[in-house]
Amino acid sequence: MIDLVQDLIRIQSDTKEGANHALDFSAKWLQERGVEVKIIENEGYKMLVAELGQGEETLIWNGHLDIVPGRKEQFEPYIEGDKLFGRGSADMKGGVAAMMAAFVGLSKHPDRLTKKVQFHLVTDEETGGSKTSKHLVQQGYTGDFVICGEPTFLKIGLQAKGISQFFVTFHGKGAHGSRPWEGDNAILQSHRFHQLLLEQEWTKESTTYYEHPSINLARIQAGDRFNMVPDTCEVGYDIRFVPGQSVDFVEQQLKAILTEHFPNAEIRRRGVSPAVTTADDDPRVLQLLDIMKEETEIMGQHGSADTRHYAVTGAGAIEFGPAGGDWHGPGEFVSISSMEKYRDILMEFAFYTGIPKEV
Ligand SMILES: [Zn+2]
Repeated sequence: MIDLVQDLIRIQSDTKEGANHALDFSAKWLQERGVEVKIIENEGYKMLVAELGQGEETLIWNGHLDIVPGRKEQFEPYIEGDKLFGRGSADMKGGVAAMMAAFVGLSKHPDRLTKKVQFHLVTDEETGGSKTSKHLVQQGYTGDFVICGEPTFLKIGLQAKGISQFFVTFHGKGAHGSRPWEGDNAILQSHRFHQLLLEQEWTKESTTYYEHPSINLARIQAGDRFNMVPDTCEVGYDIRFVPGQSVDFVEQQLKAILTEHFPNAEIRRRGVSPAVTTADDDPRVLQLLDIMKEETEIMGQHGSADTRHYAVTGAGAIEFGPAGGDWHGPGEFVSISSMEKYRDILMEFAFYTGIPKEV
């Protein structure tokens, strides 16, 4: 498994071609160990599906092989103590290698499985997952419970905030810069809008796993010359709402402010994604807690992963993976002992037949 993760790190998978290469390599690695795999392609992006076991229930393991770009030297992995360094080691070739090793482990005892276990390897998570994980769900590769092997320090990332990205365009009235009172400054409208937005109660709403939604004023485009009052201003918001809120709800709230205070303004959606709202008493979550005892805890994720593509079907979906550090940064590493533990837990969870205790 340690050789495997190092081989994967050496494949520079920050492009479609590179990620497909890593996928072909993984397919061959699994086939050489007797696992049957199916390769699917969508818009040039490859994905792999393998299935073992039988039963009513389907458990899905999902891993992505694409990475964010790194420095040249990050594609030559090295080990220091328990740390294995390299681009993609934590996010998430370490998790993928552990899943591959665990899947081969399951394939030695398929008769012991009382559920189906499906393994999905994908190649576009870092750019949104719409070409591979979302595609698999649309093609009917769905299940009852999904584990995405993102680095979580073996904690259970139960929920994820939803995403609402909007553009809002304010229209004012231009005037000479020396007589601003004769105009209506569109930049100042957007400033006022931002203040009104932050005053809204829903922007302070907390849930069990989140203190509040996050509101990021991400873009602003306005103004041309110093001697002119700007007549238009376009702002871009990236709002991450908490479970219980929705894209439509957020849009309604923004529209309500606009209707009342800025009737000429226009709003348009850029990108949206629902929140992941897996319940903490989902039976599979209880099973995992039972296996790991006090070595894990439940947390909410601020970002979002491929879990969201599965969660729309009503499946429980968690982020759960090994420990590591500095992913997307220059010193990215994965913990070797945590990868080994992760592999063993994945197998134990797949074979689990016990009745979860109340936690
Ligand atoms: Zn990731």
